[in-house]
Amino acid sequence: MSIEILPARLANQIAAGEVVERPASVVKELVENSIDAGATRIHIDIERGGHKLIRIRDDGKGIIKDELTLALSRHATSKLKSLDDLECIASLGFRGEALASISSVSRLTLSSKPAEQETAWQAFAEGRDMAVQVQPTAHPDGTTIEVKDLFFNTPARRKFLRTEKTEFSHIDELVKRIALSRFDVAITLTHNQKVIRQYRASSKEQGVKRVAQVAGKVFEQQATYIESGAEGLMLYAWVLPVGCSSSAQYTYVNGRMMRDKLILHAIRQAFEEVIGEQDVPGFVVYLEIDPRQVDVNVHPAKHEVRFHQARLVHDFIVQAIKQTVTSQTDDLVMQQNESQIS
Ligand code: ADP
Ligand code: MG
Repeated sequence: MSIEILPARLANQIAAGEVVERPASVVKELVENSIDAGATRIHIDIERGGHKLIRIRDDGKGIIKDELTLALSRHATSKLKSLDDLECIASLGFRGEALASISSVSRLTLSSKPAEQETAWQAFAEGRDMAVQVQPTAHPDGTTIEVKDLFFNTPARRKFLRTEKTEFSHIDELVKRIALSRFDVAITLTHNQKVIRQYRASSKEQGVKRVAQVAGKVFEQQATYIESGAEGLMLYAWVLPVGCSSSAQYTYVNGRMMRDKLILHAIRQAFEEVIGEQDVPGFVVYLEIDPRQVDVNVHPAKHEVRFHQARLVHDFIVQAIKQTVTSQTDDLVMQQNESQIS
């Protein structure tokens, strides 16, 4: 075979293989875009587990008409200009691939109206070259992205879609994790036109309400709230005492949800050092770190990060959590002693 440049759609479909695994991955990319656009309200409408429809509406800053085509093109982003930027990334996105990838494996339309633009416009990409068409539409300030018939043109991927119920439960879990990443953003999730979740915007002080709503009432009743800072690191967390049946475990780095091995290991070690090997109870842990100290460009779906000073971060988390577990355990012993005396 001779060497040829791949048509745009095919190149995008190949890229989609890395980030668009299932409907929940589409929801993740689109909701992260809404958050990056400064949205305060996000509506997520799902039909048939996302096989049929995924629609994300936001009240964020929108995309001007002249940039709609770019937004749907690969390697086009407003979040990054240079390698320096990549080293201290503050937004959730930066690869400029999500919209192009998703639109290559579905029927995607993008409608948007920035507040300063009088009319709204809609864009979609067609054919093997993914030529973008733009037409007028009606839309309030903000952006809506509609994704229909996911994987209709990639049978290999479609085969891996599970039942409507399973795919929706992945979406629901993902939306929970996102809801815990930003208390100040209101999020509504519907499935087949029924409201399934409604997270109201709240301040950080009232954050425990959202934690309880997502991770279980037990967090409001029994979790210890901690805040701890040292050497450019800040940790805040809700930690349940040992013996609680909840095993809801959520971790975030700079507002980005992740199941980071280093963080999970540190938390487990903290418990182990105080109470020995037992099941670790539920926790919601937020780590804030100078973006220059962490590399988020490790995995296309950004599930992992790399800390420049891994040891330091690990030990800091162990110390912070250990203090809490120690005082929780002391309280428990005291309560037990008191009840023995009386
Ligand atoms: P990335 O998020 O990595 O920049 P995407 O393909 O996800 O790449 O999005 C491309 C660009 O489209 C973004 O950089 C942003 O400028 C714009 N965009 C996408 N979604 C939205 C949205 N909901 N509101 C405003 N702008 C958006
Ligand atoms: Mg994005």
